[in-house]
Amino acid sequence: MINALRGMKDLMFEDAKRYIYVVDTASKIAQRYGYNYIETPILEETALFKRSVGESSDIVGKEMYQFEDKGGNDVCMRPEGTAGVVRAFIQAKLDRTQNQKYRFYYYGPMFRYERPQKGRLREFHQFGVESFGEEAVEEDFTIIQMVADIFNALGIGYTLKINSLGCPECMPKYRDELINRLHSIKDDLCSDCQRRVSTNPIRVLDCKNSHCQELLTDVPKICDRLCNSCKSDFEKLQYMLDRSSIDYTIDKHLVRGLDYYTKTAFEFVSSEVGAQSAIAGGGRYDRLVSFLGGKDTAGVGFALGVERILELVKMPKSSREGYYMGIMTEEARDILFDIAHKKRVDSKVIVEYAKKSLKAHLKGADRANARYALIIGEDELKSKSVWLKDLETKEEQVISVNDL
Ligand SMILES: [Zn+2]
Ligand SMILES: [Zn+2]
Repeated sequence: MINALRGMKDLMFEDAKRYIYVVDTASKIAQRYGYNYIETPILEETALFKRSVGESSDIVGKEMYQFEDKGGNDVCMRPEGTAGVVRAFIQAKLDRTQNQKYRFYYYGPMFRYERPQKGRLREFHQFGVESFGEEAVEEDFTIIQMVADIFNALGIGYTLKINSLGCPECMPKYRDELINRLHSIKDDLCSDCQRRVSTNPIRVLDCKNSHCQELLTDVPKICDRLCNSCKSDFEKLQYMLDRSSIDYTIDKHLVRGLDYYTKTAFEFVSSEVGAQSAIAGGGRYDRLVSFLGGKDTAGVGFALGVERILELVKMPKSSREGYYMGIMTEEARDILFDIAHKKRVDSKVIVEYAKKSLKAHLKGADRANARYALIIGEDELKSKSVWLKDLETKEEQVISVNDL
């Protein structure tokens, strides 16, 4: 027997319904905010992710589905969605247009060769948006509001954490100050952090080790060292959030660790998914487009992990729907198919091909969760009519075919 690969899962029945419900709900909301659907290839050149996700990250270091294709190209299955969208944006020369805003949403499978564990799959799904060309912090707020709308629509409780990561003006100065401070406590940090001090010092701030966190209490944070522009944007974002009904906290340890991330960073956390784990994350990446070879373009976006929220989604109760149709006499077969095809214009129709007793048909209709059972027996055939039962109200009637 051949099974699915480790860390890969079939999506069917209830999970499939939930998946479709999540991406449909999120897509509709994104469209209302002016976003257009984009689909980029699952396979990209490995170089794209090495540059965008960063060579020093765990994703690129250990978790990429990377291989040589038959043409000898070094390719990779996308571990996240942003890099491909930015590549498409630059390839379509949209970075050359003046003062235009481009807003895209996407969803689909992503791949990371992680050690499979509960809630961690090697093939998982994300929904996300990317907005290009809008520098105003109002866009950051609007995206946060959109994510909140999505979680509200799905019936998922959350808390929001925000931070500012600074910009090329204030970040490098802060980084130097941070490196100096980290060197003075380096020997007491965990081994991961000791390595990060030289490879990715900013990431020391979000180390999960409690001893490291204790040592970092007095270390200055980027949001205390913001330049005037970053500071006023961060204050404006807080002002707009205060006016909205979205609860938030400032998390000075919320960082990204890649140079192209700027200003706003945010994370939606759910206490329902175990230890305060992030269900969506996003922020501004004003330097990513130029980082990947395009013209300097502002960018901001978010992504949510679909599998992480699937269990939490409150679906509307599924009610009986459409028709179950069957025959009790062979002679009614042709007319059954004519009626079924006509009804399928606007209704769900399930046809039972075998001739059966009324009792057996009603059982089948119930199993199919149909609203109506439409049965043709000998009497109905003679009078050119059908027997119809509303399985919700239990009402029965005989209707002529023409009146259907
Ligand atoms: Zn700044
Ligand atoms: Zn640490």
